[in-house]
Order: sequence, then structure tokens, then C-alpha cells
Amino acid sequence: MKVLIADDDPASRLLLESLLIKWGYEVTVACDGDQAWRILSLPDHPRFVILDWMMPGIEGPEIVRRLRESEGSSPHYAIIITSKEKEYATVHALNSGADDFVAKPFNLCELQARVAVGFRVNQLHMALMDKMQKLEQATETISRLARTDELTGLHNRRSFNENFTLAVSSARRYNLPLSLISIDLDYFKRVNDTYGHHAGDQVLKLCASLLQEMVREDDIVARWGGEEFIILLLHTDCSSAIALAERLRDRFEHTPATLTPYPVTASFGVAQFKQECETEDTLLSRVDSALYRAKNSGRNCVVVAD
Ligand code: GH3
Ligand code: MG
Ligand code: MG
Repeated sequence: MKVLIADDDPASRLLLESLLIKWGYEVTVACDGDQAWRILSLPDHPRFVILDWMMPGIEGPEIVRRLRESEGSSPHYAIIITSKEKEYATVHALNSGADDFVAKPFNLCELQARVAVGFRVNQLHMALMDKMQKLEQATETISRLARTDELTGLHNRRSFNENFTLAVSSARRYNLPLSLISIDLDYFKRVNDTYGHHAGDQVLKLCASLLQEMVREDDIVARWGGEEFIILLLHTDCSSAIALAERLRDRFEHTPATLTPYPVTASFGVAQFKQECETEDTLLSRVDSALYRAKNSGRNCVVVAD
């Protein structure tokens, strides 16, 4: 473990240095407070510091105070050493943020024991930080998975609903257009029945990537369930949504699915959010009715909600 010793008194600096090297530490030395602070400002600096209280430049307690202010999730263990009058000095050193205090002249056994304690505390602190970082990453992964459809990688229904609620409230507040496109693959059951569930899955993935590829970056494409998808189009009015739905319909019709000998078409419902009277539920219900009518109108077509 790396240790920084900062002491302007050459004799005590040398003594500390030789002791710590003997006890197995990797030692860096500074002759005054400014040099110590420069070393502590380097990226891979020692996390264990032994600082003299009074030094030219920045004094020990001030260095500790600055370390505490800037260390974030990368903790330091700091021991302050001094020959100052003990009772007051101990309190001041600890109040400045130091972890421990050692008075000069050193009792060598006590110093060795205190350094060992500091080493243990530091190791525990680092291990804790490492665990916390891993926990944060795991939480992030779980949160991402909870919002992603496993097969297609699109937003799942939960994620769609979260985005939808935000989008509706923002459309309402700023009087912005907002539209939905609801999509259901045509005769998809036949794909499964004829070519197997695996082929069906591949078709779903292909459709998902076509949809994702053809929308704008801030539009939300989600798998609503089964072979149904939904697209939340921000800042988009009905005529632009219809145009996009038509492009998508055409693309589905002309994209052969590799595991089926024919392209799988889809039916589309389109609806624009009505500022005056609409809730999330009524908008969803209108776009769903439009899709239902598209199915009843022979499929492979786009129908706009009332
Ligand atoms: P329509 O044109 O009326 O929509 O007919 P359809 O066959 O597409 O609709 P239906 O609701 O009868 O069948 C949907 C099929 O989608 C049935 C179901 O097995 C299949 N399906 C749902 N989820 C998945 C999935 O994750 N993978 C696969 N391979 N099939 C799925
Ligand atoms: Mg369906
Ligand atoms: Mg279907």
C-alpha cells in the first residue's frame, strides 16, 4: 500500500520513511505542505497520508480538510503528527477530518499499530466503495432490463407507459402535437404454425428493427405484447404520423422475412392526441379502434382514428 509522508523536519521525515519501508509500505515523501498537496492532486496518489501539523505552505489539518472536500468515493486515511500541546491538538486534528493523531516523539510500537489500523480501515473502505459501485451497476442493469423487451430489445410496455405519461403531460402543458401508431402483424399465427415458433421470433425481431430504423431518435418504439407494437411520436401531428405509418406499411410489405418465403405485412392504427379532452386511456382506446378497423378492412393498411 502507498503512503505519503509530509514533514518539514528532515530527521523525523527520515525516521518515518525508514520505519514505514521496514513495515512493508511503499513510501512517497514531501518536504512541505505545498509539495504534499501537489502529490495528492495527481491521479494515482497515495490514499494513506501521514501529515505533520505545522509545515511551510499548507498545514496538515488544512490538507485533510481539502482532501475530505474533494475525495468523493475515493477515500483517504489521514494521520496527523505533531509535537503541539496534546489535548487541544488532538481535538483540532480530528475535527479537521483526520482519522487519527500521533504525538512526537513517536512511540514506535504505538505508531506501527496505528498505521496498521489505518491500513485495515482503508482496505475496508475501498472494498465497500467497490461493492457500492458494483451494486450501482447492477441496479442500472436491472432497471434497464425491467424496461426492455427481451426478444426484440425494444421498450417494453412498462417503459412505454412511463414515456407516454411524460409525453402526454408535456404535450398538454406546451400545447404540442403528439401521435401514436399501433401496429399488429397480419396472420402472424400462420407463421408460427407453418414455420415454427423460432421463425416467428425471427420475424418479430426483424419487424422491431425495421420500426426502430425508420423512426426518429426521440420517438419511442415499444413491443405492446405478442405481435403488436406501438410507436409514440413526439411533436408529431396526425398527417406526419399517417405518412410514417404508410412508409412502414410499405416497408413491411416489401421486406422478405428470411425464414418465411413471403413478407409479413402489418395493419396500422394512427391517432393524434386531442389537447382539449383527451386522457392517455382515451387516446390508446382510439388508436386501438383504428387498428381494429384496419384489420376489418382487409389488413395491410393504415386507418386513422376519428
Ligand atoms: P391477425 O391478422 O388477425 O392479427 O392474425 P394473427 O394471426 O396475427 O393474430 P392472432 O392474435 O390470432 O395470433 C397472434 C400470434 O402471435 C399467436 C401467438 O402464438 C403469436 N405470438 C405472440 N407472441 C409471440 C412470440 O413472442 N413469439 C412468437 N413466435 N409468436 C408469438
Ligand atoms: Mg394481435
Ligand atoms: Mg396479428
